[in-house]
Amino acid sequence: MGEIGVFASIVAGDTFKYYSEGEWRVSSSGKSVPIINPTTRKTQFEVQACTQDEVNKVMESAKIAQKSWAKTPLWKRAELLHKAAAILKDHKKPIAECLVKEIAKPAKDAATEVVRSGDLVSYCAEEGVRILGEGKFLMSDSFPGNERTKYCLTSKIPLGVVLAIPPFNYPVNLAVSKIAPALIAGNSLVLKPPTQGAVSALHMVHCFHLAGFPKGVISCITGKGSEIGDFLTMHPIVNCISFTGGDTGIAIAKKVSMIPLQMELGGKDACIILEDADLDLAASNIVKGGFSYSGQRCTAVKVVLVMESVADILVKKVNEKVGKLTVGPPENDCDITPVVTESSANFIEGLVMDAKKKGATFCQEYKREGNLIWPLLLDNVKQDMRIAWEEPFGPVLPIIRISNVEEGIHHCNASNFGLQGCVFTKDINKAMLISDAMETGTVQINSAPARGPDHFPFQGLKDSGIGSQGVTNSINMMTKIKSTVINLPTPSYTMG
Ligand code: NAP
Repeated sequence: MGEIGVFASIVAGDTFKYYSEGEWRVSSSGKSVPIINPTTRKTQFEVQACTQDEVNKVMESAKIAQKSWAKTPLWKRAELLHKAAAILKDHKKPIAECLVKEIAKPAKDAATEVVRSGDLVSYCAEEGVRILGEGKFLMSDSFPGNERTKYCLTSKIPLGVVLAIPPFNYPVNLAVSKIAPALIAGNSLVLKPPTQGAVSALHMVHCFHLAGFPKGVISCITGKGSEIGDFLTMHPIVNCISFTGGDTGIAIAKKVSMIPLQMELGGKDACIILEDADLDLAASNIVKGGFSYSGQRCTAVKVVLVMESVADILVKKVNEKVGKLTVGPPENDCDITPVVTESSANFIEGLVMDAKKKGATFCQEYKREGNLIWPLLLDNVKQDMRIAWEEPFGPVLPIIRISNVEEGIHHCNASNFGLQGCVFTKDINKAMLISDAMETGTVQINSAPARGPDHFPFQGLKDSGIGSQGVTNSINMMTKIKSTVINLPTPSYTMG
């Protein structure tokens, strides 16, 4: 079957359907949500604006389906995930094309996201078989006062219904990083994709449908987060929320009931450059880390803290590389593409204008056409500028010159965020001390911050999140421990 044929059932006229009880459906709301192409700024797709009744139906079917899914043998759950992963990778082309149109992801990166997602699903299936196939056996007499009369058997059991809410920047990858651990662990899963990115996510969900997952095990509700978000996150059937996004996550954490939360939120990843750093290596990483996907990555380098004595040379090297970045539409695989929405572009512009007013040095002229912002390096950024602290989520990178390393660590730790950080030096001892001092979930030595490989632990401190992700940690997070204790007769009992 051709690509259109495979995905024909997920669309009705101009509007994509939502996925409920194993079927693609049209919402009774009669309303749709437009998805604006960031490049053309015109409506590219439309998705259903689901109603509260439809959310209730999805939740109820997810709850029922989970009971038998949890009893499906682990190897069979893994087999289905492997199947979904293969289908996903087979259909990377149409899915990548949606990513290009919905979120202006450069064409090559879009294809990479789909392949990486397939690999993540397969890895999760394998890891799940290993870690969920094991339990623990404990005996009572290791604790003071106890005889060997109690045998405790523990295993990991699913939580129930997991609600997954990913952000726009990796709508496929950050969806499967929640879906695969939830499903292998025996949970059912309800996905609420980001509006920008929803159509790519719906295509991905269809790959799970084609793999043959039982109805209700995976569902997908579409609609604006601001309209159905509260109803979804506060739904009594939801037993766990895995969310990735911005400050919205903090608001959700304050509203929801006593359920496990996995929150991957914003970051202001700092890059500290010492005097002995390999400045060519640092410059390459700053440009790749700061400007890939136009800076719209949680782990993008978002502030450079460089020792004054090497700052001029570093800025020159970074500028040379920034000058070579291609700027234009994602279809042409340009390095810098339009940012996701007009309001994002306006926000970035606000940070740039604030820095201009307060005297930052512009290494390039500020240039914007629609949502497209040309890459910009701001040197001599000072503490009173918003860009020193806020996350632009765009192709604009501030440089702060420091006179000692403590100043850099202090700036990093004064941030509300604590996702990742990095340090460039040839002295491993210094690097280790700096890593210990930086209050972030991860510190990279001599490389830009990065989430992957996807089985590495990934976590944010402070406002950057709760809990640790990565394949193994996510599977564990989406389970709870169940114990069964065998009580033997007391030792005074004699076998007759
Ligand atoms: P966002 O605005 O917070 O949206 C994230 C998701 O939440 C979207 O699916 C959105 O749906 C939904 N949402 C909005 N309002 C909601 C509500 N009231 N209740 C429930 N869900 C709601 O973030 P974004 O702009 O998509 O992504 C950028 C942010 O994500 C940045 O701050 C970035 O640092 C962060 N991020 C973090 C990580 C990490 O791993 N730490 C990774 C990637 C991105 P709609 O699209 O329909 O509004």
